[in-house]
Amino acid sequence: MDLESKSLKVIENLYDPRRENIGAFSGGKDSIVLKHLMQRTGIFFVYKYCNTTIDPPGHISFIKTNYHDVEIIQPRYSFWELIEKYGLPTRQNRFCCQHLKEYVGKGAKVFEGLRIDESKEEEIRYSNRSKKVVLSKRGRRLLALKEPEVCDTRIKNKIHAYPIMHWSTADIWKYIRKYDIPYSDFYNKGFHRLGCIGCPLGRQDQRMREYKLFPRFVYTSVKAIKRNIDNGKSISKFFEDPYEAFYWWISEQSIETHKMQSLFKIDYEKVIRDTFPLLTEAEK
Ligand code: SF4
Repeated sequence: MDLESKSLKVIENLYDPRRENIGAFSGGKDSIVLKHLMQRTGIFFVYKYCNTTIDPPGHISFIKTNYHDVEIIQPRYSFWELIEKYGLPTRQNRFCCQHLKEYVGKGAKVFEGLRIDESKEEEIRYSNRSKKVVLSKRGRRLLALKEPEVCDTRIKNKIHAYPIMHWSTADIWKYIRKYDIPYSDFYNKGFHRLGCIGCPLGRQDQRMREYKLFPRFVYTSVKAIKRNIDNGKSISKFFEDPYEAFYWWISEQSIETHKMQSLFKIDYEKVIRDTFPLLTEAEK
């Protein structure tokens, strides 16, 4: 059986008439392929996009124009309000996902476009010295799932289904071209993945590239950090200077290592402005 037929079968088999069946739609390449496959089964699904408030500019317009049957869910708090309230999310403490994405679909069957291949590409990190491969929790979870039929697993009160988990990135692009599926222009501009700008789960070089491309996000992050500090919230325990906190956040160092460096007087605002030369323009 070919890949397409297998995934169509998986979707049909995992559809659960006793509960809501949701197609989790991000507007990225995997979710547009998954949606296309789900529609081909002829089964009724609802498709939901969670506005994370930090997707690339113009992404929601792309979804509205090309995928008007997708429901756009607005979060209670924006990403910036979450920083202001709770501090900076990290790889180990990604609380923003809970508030911006995972709250949708409790009790439902949620079909997602996660793929083992992408999980390896995006989440394998190489430590500077040993080049040791470190897979994220999500990556390990996906690798542990051998067959799509067993990927129906209960996580956070939802049932997750991953019908395209065995597709490679090349398979995804082949399918998009074969069926001429509208995809985001960001892929033509060198993006390999679409999603939250500066996501702490992403690779550091990728975060830097995204912030350089969209310096407005640096500006809004620094502002949110400042509000957190001014209100005596969590970030104020470690930092007085919002630029220093932002620097620490993207440097991915431990607080201890960072503080060691800070024995030397560093003008963090200058460092950030030198690193993101378009920041001043973005502040206007
Ligand atoms: S920034 Fe990353 S961790 Fe936070 S909501 Fe977005 S994907 Fe999840």
